[in-house]
Order: sequence, then structure tokens, then C-alpha cells
Amino acid sequence: MDNYVVSARKYRPSTFQSVVGQKSLTTTLKNAIINNKLAHAYLFCGPRGVGKTTCARIFAKTINCFHPAPDGEACNECESCRSFNENRSLNIHELDAASNNSVDDIRALTEQVRIMPQLGRYKVYIIDEVHMLTQSAFNAFLKTLEEPPHHAIFILATTEKHKILPTILSRCQIYDFNRISINDIVDYLEYVAKQENISYEREALNIIAHKADGGMRDALSIFDQVISFSQGNVTYKTVIENLNVLDYDYYFRITDAILQNDVPQCLLLLNEILSKGFDGQHIISGLALFFRDLLVCKDPQTIVLFEVGDAVKEKYLELARRCETTFLYKAMELTNETDLNYRYSKNKRFSIELLLVRLCQSRVSPVEGDKKKIVIEAIGKENLKDVNDIKDLKDLKVIEDSNPPKTSADPGKSIARVRLNGEPEQASMPQTASLQTENSIQNQPFSQEDLIKSWKDYANQSEDIYLKKTMLYINPLLKDDCRFEIEVLNPEQADYFQENKTSIKEYLFSALKNNSLELNIKIKVEDHTQTLFTDREKYLYMVDKNPSLKNLVQEFNLRLD
Ligand SMILES: [Zn+2]
Repeated sequence: MDNYVVSARKYRPSTFQSVVGQKSLTTTLKNAIINNKLAHAYLFCGPRGVGKTTCARIFAKTINCFHPAPDGEACNECESCRSFNENRSLNIHELDAASNNSVDDIRALTEQVRIMPQLGRYKVYIIDEVHMLTQSAFNAFLKTLEEPPHHAIFILATTEKHKILPTILSRCQIYDFNRISINDIVDYLEYVAKQENISYEREALNIIAHKADGGMRDALSIFDQVISFSQGNVTYKTVIENLNVLDYDYYFRITDAILQNDVPQCLLLLNEILSKGFDGQHIISGLALFFRDLLVCKDPQTIVLFEVGDAVKEKYLELARRCETTFLYKAMELTNETDLNYRYSKNKRFSIELLLVRLCQSRVSPVEGDKKKIVIEAIGKENLKDVNDIKDLKDLKVIEDSNPPKTSADPGKSIARVRLNGEPEQASMPQTASLQTENSIQNQPFSQEDLIKSWKDYANQSEDIYLKKTMLYINPLLKDDCRFEIEVLNPEQADYFQENKTSIKEYLFSALKNNSLELNIKIKVEDHTQTLFTDREKYLYMVDKNPSLKNLVQEFNLRLD
């Protein structure tokens, strides 16, 4: 521990075999070497820290090795290999185009290209962040790339493939490097920890891997950082404290509270997290990811996408079993929506609180707000046909309708079910108009005006602000006697209406005294006269027209309030 060498450097792979998480790519490179099918130019693309430069160096070493192994790896013993491993080989030239991107830099490099190697067969030129070259430097380089001498091989590396000119792309063999999986990173950190005799908890390594977001180099340097402040004892607790990572236990507790529809508990937990100084955006995206993890571990087919350490796996599985899939879909959608809008929210704390409330609500009945769907069971009324048949209220038993029957009362049973929409208190007043038997057919004609009025009535009494606003903006259009259509702006709105369709329809059934009415939801074909409500919508519209506006906003760190 005392003479701990920075692991990012010490544990840099020196053979293809030891490169983590890029198996198929390193196999292809090795095969090319074994079969002596080398190209003059390669383009290595992929996120930062996933092994592009490392592979380029291993490649340069291997093709210059005097005694390569049959499996295509360098021997690491010959003079050439030793010169590579000791960083004194003259056959490798690295140019970081991020800082040396001028025509002169490229000329200095291309002039060397003509010189033959003294030891070994190839000179390898690695140009890192090649997309940073200036236009004229690119052009100067293109000439060399078109007619390279036999001994020269170029390896261009970039994190931004889309910025590479087609003329360069067409001259290169392209290799796409993957983001390294969390498990691969954890395995490798575990290997390093064992080599260095550092005590660790696997869960701690998992947090580091997540923080590094698929980059091995970052993972190793975070690992070094953690070792230094934890005195060589890498525990889950020290890692979350020092990397400012939110303890996932909070997500378990919040989800638990949501499942119990416990809004106060959710708000208290949120308060506790915020008081520890965690950023709201961080909480929302963490929660979104948590729901996503619960979803993927629910299904054996998607469990491979589940990148959580073994120690907590069982905990996830147990919670996932208690969550309905539909709830998880909804939860992901709601958190994502809040995530996207959070930056523009004026009252940030409120927007997370609202999210938690909506999450709790999403598991209660699909009926709006606090209103509960009530089922009245008429005891001993086998031949119940109409509400008016109920004479004595003592025969009625009111229960909360947690599981509404799909069909009307089964005449063979001694209990007839009568449904009512409204406040629980109203249950004692069966003579009100809102009470109806499920199998009674009502077919009263209604006009377009009646429809709009009832539609707006429903909107105004809805406690779902979003639904209310959207409904008031939309005008339902009567298509024929009992079919009407609404036009929504986007698929999200359509989904939202789809979810609320049943309760809207039930309301209209009784308000319009017509229960054969049907609601069609249609997505408006986008036209350019679309109404933009909020500043954010206006901004997004303008970005769509002119994407450089987004750069401007980022450049000056502007906010939309
Ligand atoms: Zn060798």
C-alpha cells in the first residue's frame, strides 16, 4: 500500500489478451496480424478511456515483434518489444491532435513518414483525437494517407467519428470500441485490488465502475483516488461518501413508500436527501435509472442488461417482484419527463415533490385525484335490474372498487354489483343521477355543444393539472351519433389520454346519458402552425430550426426561466 503505483499507468494492458471489454475487436486485430493482412490506415472510434490508444500501442508493438506467438500476441522479450515496453522505440509516433492540430504539426509528422524504420518492419503513427485537426491540417494529411510508404501505418483515434471527413473514412479500416460493461470493469478492479493487497467490497467497486461510465482509465483513476482517501480499505460507505454518490438504499426506501402510496414518507425521504446536499437533477436521474434496473431484472431475457453487483441483486429482485410492469413503465416515463423539464423548472424542489406524488398516484386507481371508484354490493338482490329496484339502503354494502368486474352482475349470484362514480359519501344517496347499473343501456342523443360542455366539466374538476390543461385546450369533435374524436399534439399526449380514457368515458356516459359513446384519439399531423405554449416549447422549436442556438445556450450557460 505504501509504495502504491498509480494503477491507471501500472495496469495498462500490454497484450491484446489483457485488454478489457473489447474481445471481438482485439481478436480481429490479432487475426489480421497472423494472416499478415495489414491495412495502411485504421480508425479507432469510441468513448474516452475504453482502450483505443492502448490497443494502438499494442498493435504497433505486435507488428514489430521479432518472434510473435502463434496466437498473434507479441513476445514481450525481443529487442523490439523491449524498446516498446520501455517507451524508447523509434517506430511509434504519437500526436495528440487536440493540442497539435496545425498544418505545421502535420507536416512535421509526414516528413518523418518517409524515413525507413531502423529496427523492426513498421513505423506506426498514432493520431489521437484526429477530429480536432484543422481543415488545412486534414488536407495536408490526406496527401500522405493517399500514398503512404510501405513501412508506414496510421492509426487514427477519435471520440467523435461523425466529425471525420468522408475522404479520410473511406481510406481507413474502422474499428468501433465499446463502452466497457460495469461487470468487466468491476472484475478488473478486483484483479488490481488483489494484486496490490488492497481490501475492498465488491459493491464499492461497482459504484466506481458506474461513476466511470464505461471508461477503464477513469475507473482506475477514481480507484486510485478512493484508495488514497480510504487508507487502502475500499468500502461501499467510504466510496459513496467521498464520491458524493447517493446511497441506493434511498431509492429502495422511496420505491417502497410509493408502493404503499405513502406520499408523506416520500416527501420526508426527499427532504433528507436534499438536506445532505444532493443535487435534484442527480436524484431524478438516479431514480429513473433505478426504475429501469427494476424493470430489466424482472424479465429473464433482459436480466443481462442488469449491471448491479451481486450483493444487492437479491434486494432488487425482491422489490421488482412487488412492482407491476405497468407501474415501472409509468415510473420511467414520469421520471424521464421530470428529468427533461427540471432545468427549466422555476420551483425545482416542487417539481421533484410533484414527481413523487404522481408516482404514488400512478399506482392508485386510474380515476382522477382522490375520488374513489365505489362498488355497491346489493345483498340478496338476485333480480336486480335497475337502481330503482333497491329500496332499502340497508341491503347495500359499499366497498372500494380495487378490482372492478369486467362484466355486469352475474345473475346466478346473490350479490349484484352496481357501480357509482363519485365521492364515497354519495354512496348513501343512490337516487342521484350519477348512479347507474352497469348493464343498463342508455342511448340519449347529444349535441356537439353538450359534448364540449361535459368535456370541459370533466377537465375543470380534474385534479391532474396536466390533464386539465390539455383537455381545456382540445376541442372534442363529434363524428356521428356516439363517436367523437380528439386531436392531440404528440404520441405522449396520446398515451396520456389513452390512460385516462376509461375514466373520461365513464364520466361522459353518465353526464350525457349515453353509454355507447366512443372516443378516438388522433395524433395531429405536424404542421408549422402548431401552437407553442411555453417558452421551452418555443425554444425547442427554434433549436429544431437552427441547432447552433443550442451551442450558443451551452456556450454562455444560458437558462430559460
Ligand atoms: Zn517481441
